[in-house]
This record gives sequence, structure tokens and C-alpha cells, in this order.
Amino acid sequence: MKEKLPELFGSYVFNEETMKRRLSAASYKSWKKSVQEGTSLELSTANEIAEAMKQWAMELGATHFTHWFQPMTGVTAEKHDSFINPIGGGNIEMEFSGKELVKGEPDASSFPSGGLRATFEARGYTAWDPTSFAFVKDDSLYIPTIFLSYSGQALDKKTPLLRSMDAVSKQAVRILRLFGDEDTNRVTANCGPEQEYFLVDKALYDQREDLRLAGRTLFGNKPARGQELSDHYFGQIKPRVAAYMKDLDNELWKLGIYSKTKHNEVAPSQHEMAPIYSDANTASDSNQLTMNIMKTVALRHNFACLLHEKPFDGVNGSGKHDNWSLGTDLGENLLSPGHTPSKNAQFLLFLAAFVKGVDEYQDVLRCTVASAGNDHRLGAQEAPPAILSIFLGDELEAVVSSIINGTDYEDGGKKTLRIGVDMLPKIAQDTTDRNRTSPMAFTGNKFEFRMLGSAQSISGPNIALNTIMAEELSQFAEVLEGSRDFELDLQKLIKKTFTEHQRIIFNGNGYDEAWVEEAEKRGLSNLVSTADALPEYASAKAIKLFTKNDVYTEEELTARATIHAETYASKILIEARTMADMAKRQIMPAVSAYAGELCQRIETMTACGCVTAYETETANRVASFTDAMMKDTDQLDEDIAKVPSEEWAAMKYAHEVLLPDMEAVRASADALEALVDKEYWPFPVYSDLLFSE
Ligand code: ADP
Ligand code: MG
Repeated sequence: MKEKLPELFGSYVFNEETMKRRLSAASYKSWKKSVQEGTSLELSTANEIAEAMKQWAMELGATHFTHWFQPMTGVTAEKHDSFINPIGGGNIEMEFSGKELVKGEPDASSFPSGGLRATFEARGYTAWDPTSFAFVKDDSLYIPTIFLSYSGQALDKKTPLLRSMDAVSKQAVRILRLFGDEDTNRVTANCGPEQEYFLVDKALYDQREDLRLAGRTLFGNKPARGQELSDHYFGQIKPRVAAYMKDLDNELWKLGIYSKTKHNEVAPSQHEMAPIYSDANTASDSNQLTMNIMKTVALRHNFACLLHEKPFDGVNGSGKHDNWSLGTDLGENLLSPGHTPSKNAQFLLFLAAFVKGVDEYQDVLRCTVASAGNDHRLGAQEAPPAILSIFLGDELEAVVSSIINGTDYEDGGKKTLRIGVDMLPKIAQDTTDRNRTSPMAFTGNKFEFRMLGSAQSISGPNIALNTIMAEELSQFAEVLEGSRDFELDLQKLIKKTFTEHQRIIFNGNGYDEAWVEEAEKRGLSNLVSTADALPEYASAKAIKLFTKNDVYTEEELTARATIHAETYASKILIEARTMADMAKRQIMPAVSAYAGELCQRIETMTACGCVTAYETETANRVASFTDAMMKDTDQLDEDIAKVPSEEWAAMKYAHEVLLPDMEAVRASADALEALVDKEYWPFPVYSDLLFSE
């Protein structure tokens, strides 16, 4: 690296600093105002910003610009236009106008709309999101945008995220006013997503059709060595992986992404990158970019980067921990216990809102992490079950029970914690004693939502967290704004809330079977699979929550539910087809060749009287597993042909028919893998993929 890191950092980003330097004072101020107040820019200002952006981008080698948006596919979309403009005589000039900066009109018809397009126009448009910085990548100027249908329905993940951030800000400020805070103007949802991933050798990856087409292995026996030795977690990073991580950091830093922590994860070949947190909108853009860059940088190092939630059966899958908190524009973290009784009271009110919200909207949160990939992970050995609960830690749990029971939190005596008068005990931010089995853990000054899958956009879960919090805070504000004795009513409200919602608090082992039973007794919801969860996505309760807080219209929410159902069915169908193909064109031919050779050997060996049980037994076993595999593959093929066309029926069918079919095919194939001479096996196995140098 020639440049020093501070110079390198953000050097490909048209950030505030760059804007300050390159724009007139008036334009810079207008931009700032538009960001702070959500007002739109004058065309003349947009023109000036566009011109400055173009100049800056061209100095970094850009020849094109693109509106970069996040359709409901879960990945990002871009269409590049060059800056060239003919000026006669066969010459060109480089042009980029304010109009082109502010608005684009990509053809919306190729993006999922969940039926929104049936009722509205096919056209869609993108609009600049001035709160997220433009950047240069691969010789293009990238402009982060929202994506809407022509009639204004959100067709993307950014629009509702921005709306939810506004909603929670508005309600949080309302609450702060009650505590005498007249200075805070904006509250921001902050987010730090920890990203897990696998790296496998590209040459081996290329030989696996399942990895290439479905992102996960559909066949494969557990290797003799898995993660038992726990020697990989935080272990020394292999040189080739270290070179990858270094390269990745550089690319991320250039784009202003605060890549901070890198380490090996629990499974062999599994790693993690955690950035420093930022506002949820930036965090979401950055995480999308990170996933994209992880994949492209991997190729330079002859790796394939796997972001699937469960690339390998029997070893840990990958998640994405979403660390979430609320911060004021004055730098106060609202989920941080304060240093004065009144700040502590405020903290407890925000905490109560969170506890109430997670309890009341368990299903909404569960739905935001439902996907075909994550189904393999949630409830498996390495991840929380599909049941929502909150871990508060010992100190805070003690405080909450003292409030509920009216007893002293320190020595179990009779003194009650008087909210707003007494101080809270110190809440540790210690990282060592955290309960890693909780799906939603309080970690000192933020909540860590651990149910997210590694491949998913963080928008959905953050939209839900923000909206739920906005809803609860608005309910609290309504109660307290009319209060004559604020302290007393506050105390009552907090006590009532914790008492009514204590069932969602669980500090025990979330991986324990007994918890599933206990949760059922508590009446907590347990939507085990995506097929169980998605029908709740646009429930009456969810519609009320999101429409009341102006985050989704009813049509937008139901459209999203349909898209998720459709995506689930498509993913399983791709897996099923890939599996049938690999079974018929790779595994069974290889096994048959081996069986043929074995039988010849048996013939020769029988003639000379030296045949053993190994040859004959293996031949018998291979024959019986092959027969079973043939039968099960035929069944799979037959069922693939019968997938219903309607999305919800297809989802149910994929879950109830295709998945069990696939399990059957896999069982015989994996048994064969353990029997057949490895020279014959048609593709690399788990030990090759997971333990290559
Ligand atoms: P661990 O793996 O122990 O959970 P990491 O350091 O890997 O911890 O990740 C913690 C994440 O939480 C980081 O992205 C960090 O920036 C983020 N974080 C820290 N404070 C806050 C906060 N107040 N709000 C949101 N995220 C935060
Ligand atoms: Mg974590």
C-alpha cells in the first residue's frame, strides 16, 4: 500500500469532506439542509453537485455513472451510462447533469414487484438518496438511490428503511422532550452488522455444480474432522486467507467502509468481518457493498466466497449479527444506562419499549429473517431457535425483576428502586459472559439481533426494529404527555410494561431443547420454518404496525410477502433441479463405473479363489444404495414437474414435498460417498473443500 491508511480511507467516496472542498458554500449548505430536513434540492444546486461529482469521479478514472439501488431481490442493481455526449465533428464532451443525478428511469419490469406492477404502471424510477454518499467503483460513479414505482410505491429496501428511520426518530424525540431534552432534533438508528463467510478454493468450487448454482453443497458426508477441536475460532489466519483479508480491507476502506475486525470463525474455512457501526442506512449500503466486494476480491485470490447460511451440513453455518441502537444528534446513546437517575429512568423507558415491542411483534421480527438458506441454520446447533427472546444479562435482569416485584435489586431487601430518583447499578459491557445462545442480546449499550442469515440484506430486520420501536414509543408518549405527575406515571408505566412482557426475557440457554418447551408454556411463538413464518408477514397486526407508522402501505407489505414466498420456492426448486442433475449425470454414472470395475474384480478374484467379503459386500451395498438413489431421484424428478405456479402454493409444496425428496436422495448419495473408491467420486468432498491450503 503506497498511501497511508487515513489518506486511502474514503478516497473513492464523495463524502462530506470532499463536498465541502469541491462545492460552493451555498451548494454545500443546501445539500446539508436537504439531508437534515429532508427537503429537495433546487435544480441549479443539483447541477452544481453533479458537475463537481463528475469532475471528481473522472479524476479517479470514472467514465460512467450508475444509479445504484436495492430491489427486492436482496442484492443490488445497477445500469451504467457513460458521461459521453456528442458535440459534432465526431467529438464528445463528458456530461452529467443535475437531472441525471437526481432521477433515473430504469425499466422496472424485470424486478420483482409482488403484484404492485399489475395494479400500477410498469415504469419505475430511481431517486438520489443524498444521505448516502456517492462513490467510484470499477470506473463508474455510483449514486445510491431509492427505487419506486411510478405511482410512488416502494419497489426496494432502502425506501422503507429511510421511512422507518424517520418514524423512530420522530417518536424518540417526542419521548426525549418529556425528559426535558429540548436540543435533540434527530435520533438515528445505528447498526453494526458482523458478516460471516466461507472461503473455498475456486478450482474446487468450480467442480461443484451445487455450489455454483445453489450456493450450498447438496451432497456430502461430514468430514472425519469437523470443528470438534475448536481450533479454528480466532486461530491463526492462513497466509492465503490473510492476503485476501488485507486486500478486502483495502477495497472496503477506499469506499469508506469502516472494516474493523477480522478473524477466523468456528467452522474450518469460515471467517468474519465486522465494521464499526454507522447509521442504519449507511450500514445497509455498506453491507451490500461488502458482500459484493467479498466475492470479487475472493476471485483475485483464487477463492470463492460463500455467503450462504449453510454451505455445509454438519458444520456451523453463517449468520449476520445486527447490532442495533438509537443515538441522538448530540451523541447520546439512548440504550446506554446513564450516569444520573434521570438518564437511567430515560434508559429504562427505552428498554421497556424495546421489551414490549419484541414481545408484541415476535412474528414480525421472525419473518424478517425467514429464508430458504436461514432455515438450515436457525435452531441447528450453532444458531438460536426460531423463537424470539431477549437476554438482558444478570445486572439488568436483576433491575427489571426488582421493578416488577417491588424489591430492592441489590440485596433482596425491601427497598424499591425509585425510577428517576435512585441510581442503577453499573451495567457491565463485558464481552466475556455474554449469552451467545440468545437471538436478541443486550450487550451493554445496544441489542445484538443474531437471527439474521449471512446472505440477507440487513434492511428488513432494521426496518422492523425501527418501526416497532417507533410504535411503542408513540404509545408511551401518548400516556406520558398528558401526565400530571410525570415521575409517578413513568414509574407505573415502566413497571406495568415489564410485568406484562416479562415472558420474552430469557437468560438461559437458548440452544437447550427444554427452552422450546418452556417457550411454548410462556406462549411465545415458534415459527419453525420459512413456510410457517411467511404467511404471518402481512398479518393484520403487521399491516397495522407498518401503515400506522408510514413505513409500508398495505399493498407494499403484501407485495413483499409474496416476493419472499416466490423467492423461497424458486430457491428450493433450483436446488432440487441441481440435485437431480448431479445425481443422474455425475454420481450415479461414477458409482456405476466403480461397481462395474468391482464386479469384474470379483469375477477374477472368485476364479482364483481369493475374493473376500470386502469386495462382495461392498458390491451389494453399492447396488442397494444405487437402487434407492435411482428410485428417490425419479421421485424427485416427478415432483419437480408438479410444482404449482401460484407463489404461496409453490412455497408450501417446496417445503412439504421437495425438501423431503431431496433429503432422501442425499441420504443414499452420502452413503455411497462413504463406500465408493475416492478415485471414482465425481467432485471434491467436504474434507477437500474445508481443509484445502
Ligand atoms: P462481538 O463479535 O463480540 O459481538 P464485534 O466487535 O465483532 O463484537 O461486533 C460488535 C459490533 O457492534 C461492531 O460492528 C460495533 O461497531 C457494533 N456496535 C458497537 N456499539 C454499537 C452501538 N452503540 N450501536 C450499534 N452497533 C454498535
Ligand atoms: Mg457479535
